[in-house]
Amino acid sequence: MNRLREIPSVDVLLQHPRAEVLQKRFGRSLLLNGVRSVLDDTRQALLNSSESPSLSPEILLNRVESLLEQWLAPTLVPVINATGVILHTNLGRAPLSLPALRAMQETAGGYCTLEYDLERGERGSRTVHAEMLLRRITGAEAALVVNNNAAAVLLVLTALARRRGVLISRTQLVEIGGGFRVPEVMAQSGAKLIEVGTTNRVRLEDYEDALRSHHSVSLILRAHHSNFRIIGFTAEPSLKDLADLAHRYQLPLVDDLGSGALLDTSKYGLAHEPMVQESLADGADVVCFSGDKLLGGPQAGIIVGKSEWIARLKKHPLARAVRPDKLTLAALAATLVYYLKEEAEEQVPVWRMITQKPERLKERAQEWQTFLGFGEVIPSRSTVGGGSLPEETLPTFVLALNVRKPNAFLANLRKCSPPIIARIEEERVVFDPRTVLPEQDGLFLNQLSHILQNQRRKEASS
Ligand SMILES: *Cc1c(COP(=O)(O)O)cnc(C)c1O
Repeated sequence: MNRLREIPSVDVLLQHPRAEVLQKRFGRSLLLNGVRSVLDDTRQALLNSSESPSLSPEILLNRVESLLEQWLAPTLVPVINATGVILHTNLGRAPLSLPALRAMQETAGGYCTLEYDLERGERGSRTVHAEMLLRRITGAEAALVVNNNAAAVLLVLTALARRRGVLISRTQLVEIGGGFRVPEVMAQSGAKLIEVGTTNRVRLEDYEDALRSHHSVSLILRAHHSNFRIIGFTAEPSLKDLADLAHRYQLPLVDDLGSGALLDTSKYGLAHEPMVQESLADGADVVCFSGDKLLGGPQAGIIVGKSEWIARLKKHPLARAVRPDKLTLAALAATLVYYLKEEAEEQVPVWRMITQKPERLKERAQEWQTFLGFGEVIPSRSTVGGGSLPEETLPTFVLALNVRKPNAFLANLRKCSPPIIARIEEERVVFDPRTVLPEQDGLFLNQLSHILQNQRRKEASS
């Protein structure tokens, strides 16, 4: 216990010559907090255990330094995605194209025309920046961009269905992950859920019966299944039939597409993901989808449809609370331009990944293997992810490593800088070139070869 008295005081540490260097680096107040924290920990260590921590000011100040470094280290850092999941929600979904990044930088680094009309020299509207592009691409009468698609659905239901009924099929009461559950969003909006049909089957007559027996129905909602598929004895009416029915009752049909493709995924060996253009052509009045799923842009919720309804959304107070910022609008507009020019396949990273040819992926995996002198190139499957195209995979080639403890190996990969995220397939650690950005190859290979060398050294000495 006597050693407690030997702990240096805060002042002694602050007056130590090393403290001056630390103060320059971290500032006085942070340094003081760091010193107090390290001294508290040292006191606890003396009280709690038989261990005898060093009480030398140098060593204590070293600890302060690492603690402060740790406090300041960013937690949101880039990673190398070698999982082969293209729209990996946990890894930030869609990587942006260079022009989208440049647009963000130019907009963020100074002032911009976010809500300024240059021609008239007066206040303008932030909704104009992406609206025209979205209208031209999808053929919609009007468009509105919000923070994300969850906000889009919430806004649509709040503005168009509050205190009134919303018809939705029991086959579509989905949870898409990250806490987004259709019935809960419905409850938040104040709309009343009216369930139609059964878990696996719903017919047009089910909707019609519900419309006849409920008087305050405000709209029919269709939600895309997104991340699951029902198979077997199933049925859902077509969107067109549903739209016709809604219109017979003077109601809008709202289609939550989730990912919402602007390109036809079936051209790339995938199932057909419902397209925004098709939804509108089939008669949906309001269609909403994400900006950072198959569109390959920034996080955003995009709402397109008939002017009548979009105007009501724009005027609703909630629209103000879920409005997008200038960075989102800049990146979104820069991404949408490629769809208008029909260059999305080549220019939008997500689509570049989807359309990569297996032969090219095989070549890259082989280049990796040659560089490392280790592992085997084997066929495997990449997935699109992001709540689109469940069960759908794309043929790829991966580099597979036989290591003694695959899970420990994955943990070591995560300690790299930038961290590498890989996966295990049949007890082997596999790396899919499809989602590793080509400009990351150098960093990726250097780190991986470093880990492999360490491993070999360890194995040789054990
Ligand atoms: C992904 C998804 C959402 C939520 O979109 P975010 O952009 O993640 O907020 C809503 N509905 C469906 C059907 C989805 O797939």
